[in-house]
Amino acid sequence: MIIRAAIAISPDQPFQIKEFELEEPRKDEVLVKISASGICHTDIAVKEQSINLPLPMILGHEGSGVVEAIGENISELKIGDHVVLTSDSCGLCSRCEKKLPSYCDEFVERNLSGKRIDGTSPINSVIGSRFVGQSSFASHSLVSARSAIKIGRSHPLRLMGPLGCGLMTGVGTVFHALEADSGDSIAIFGAGTVGLSSVMGSLIKGCYPIIIVDPMSYRREIALELGATHALSPETGNVVAQILDITGGGADFSIEASGNPSAVGLSLKCLARPGWSAQLGATPAQTFHPLDMDHLGFGRGIKGVVMGDAYAKEFIPFLASLHQEGKLPFEKFVKEYKFEDINTAVQESQQGSVIKPILIM
Ligand SMILES: [Zn+2]
Ligand SMILES: [Zn+2]
Repeated sequence: MIIRAAIAISPDQPFQIKEFELEEPRKDEVLVKISASGICHTDIAVKEQSINLPLPMILGHEGSGVVEAIGENISELKIGDHVVLTSDSCGLCSRCEKKLPSYCDEFVERNLSGKRIDGTSPINSVIGSRFVGQSSFASHSLVSARSAIKIGRSHPLRLMGPLGCGLMTGVGTVFHALEADSGDSIAIFGAGTVGLSSVMGSLIKGCYPIIIVDPMSYRREIALELGATHALSPETGNVVAQILDITGGGADFSIEASGNPSAVGLSLKCLARPGWSAQLGATPAQTFHPLDMDHLGFGRGIKGVVMGDAYAKEFIPFLASLHQEGKLPFEKFVKEYKFEDINTAVQESQQGSVIKPILIM
């Protein structure tokens, strides 16, 4: 079938919306008519090649839509189901069996190559069209069944795509990777989608205090609206000293969600003893950070987290239900754009004037 998709060709060319021929679903695949797709910083970083994946590629990895056709081996989904798309995994390796699909043995091949695991691409051999299992900057995506997570029809479908990456990463890190609990103190660096989702997740868990660090005042304001108890700017005063003061000696947990290399060190220095720091920000390739071992002694640790250590099949419907209960009001920082305006949306996201752009297909 003929679809429309936005292709990323090189850093110096804007996204171009063109028509492509998409294959029919294979036995274990699902064709999804995309309703909307969030734009994540990772999409922009790949297009700009600060994350160096092969181009040309159809990007987009926060898609939501409706199942339009299914392969003959698919039993858990049917035509007309509403789905949120997420990363692909094999379903067979030891990490998949432990419900940790983002550490699947085949994660890189299935999500970052733009190709199926057999090296083919649903569009053609030259153009990657399986980015993070989906390539959702398109009218339609052909995905593996494990990438399509069914949600109920009562949810606003065109808002739901970011549950598959940004929301899952931010909330999942608080719930699963850090296992934060009531009364735990937490410091969150970066008030983008992931950081703000961590704020909302921390509030749900009953953490206190919840400290957000971001240089932009309007982002700090949104974080305070969503549940942060303190908001700090890295440009005024010593952030670490302020966090030690607010928490009475250090934060039980910290989350680095800004992608700014200078925040990595701050997120370690502000920890209590013991304390854990989760690193989520996509720092540029070849980012090195000197590690002062004094900041790791006494039970402190640092871990890199992908997709919030979440099991998407259970966690995405759970996030949708939290949203329905009013506990994840992320629409407060969403701005919708027509698909045709993808380059404007990217530009405004890079400038920081919009936090979560969503393209309406
Ligand atoms: Zn993402
Ligand atoms: Zn696996």
